[in-house]
Amino acid sequence: MADLQITSVTKRFGETPVLNGVTLDIADSEFVSLVGPSGCGKSTLLRVIAGLETPDSGAVSIGGANVTTTRAADRNLSMVFQSYALYPHLTVAENIAVPLRMRQLTHLQRMPLIGGLLPGARGHRQSIAAAVNAATEMLEIKSLLDRKPGQLSGGQRQRVALARALVRDPAAFLLDEPLSNLDAKLRVQTRAEIAELHRRLNATFIYVTHDQVEAMTMSDRIAVMMGGEILQCATPEVIYEDPDDIRVAEFIGSPK
Ligand code: ADP
Ligand code: MG
Repeated sequence: MADLQITSVTKRFGETPVLNGVTLDIADSEFVSLVGPSGCGKSTLLRVIAGLETPDSGAVSIGGANVTTTRAADRNLSMVFQSYALYPHLTVAENIAVPLRMRQLTHLQRMPLIGGLLPGARGHRQSIAAAVNAATEMLEIKSLLDRKPGQLSGGQRQRVALARALVRDPAAFLLDEPLSNLDAKLRVQTRAEIAELHRRLNATFIYVTHDQVEAMTMSDRIAVMMGGEILQCATPEVIYEDPDDIRVAEFIGSPK
C-alpha cells in the first residue's frame, strides 16, 4: 500500500475548467472520502489519480514516485466504478482474474523471446487461482464463480467488481460511487463490507460518494469538493463540528 500526493492539479475540458488547483495528501492506509455536489469534479479527480485523464498542470505521486505521466496500467491502482464494468461473456472467476492475466500479458510482451519458456508459467497459473480464491472467500461469493454477470443481482455484481479490485494487491483502491446502483438495504450492508475490507487489508482507499452519511461513517478524513476545488479536508468530526466554510456546513448539514 502507498501514500498519494496530488499537488496543484488543474484540468479543463475544452473551455470548461473542471479541476482548479487541487492539492490533497493521503497517508498510507488512510480512508479518504471525496464528497460534493454532482458535477464538482470528483470523478475527474479520481480519473486523474488513476491515470485515465492527464492533468493540464500539477502532479500526482504514489508512494513517493511521480506518476503524473505514467499510464494507468503501470500505476498499480484498483478502480471500482458505479457501473461494475464486468465482462458479460466471462464467468465470475474469469472476470476476477482479468487484472492478473493482463499483468501476465504485459510481463510476457516485455520478454517476447523468453516469456513462454519461463519455468514459473505453471506456478503463475496456480497463483492466479489462489488469488481468485482468496478474494472470493473474503467477499463470500465462492458459490458464484461459474456464473456470468447476467445471472447475478446488482449487489452480487458489485462484490465481483470488488473482488476483482482485490486480487491485484494494489497500491491503493479508488472507488467511484460504488454503491449508488444498490437499494438502500444492500447499500448499508456493502458499506459495512467495504469498511471491513479496509480494516483487514489496511489499505489506502479513496472513496467518492455524494452520500454524506456514507462518508461520515466510513472515513478517516473527508474532502469536501465544490467547483473543482477542495474546500476542506478533515476528520468527519471536524468537518461536521468545525467547518471552514459556509458551503461545507451547508453541504454536510452541520448545525449553524
Ligand atoms: P462529479 O463526479 O463530481 O459529478 P465529474 O468529474 O464527472 O463530476 O465532472 C465534472 C465536470 O466535468 C462536469 O461539468 C462534467 O460535465 C465535465 N466533464 C467530465 N468529463 C468530461 C469529458 N470527458 N468531457 C467534457 N466534460 C467532462
Ligand atoms: Mg462522478
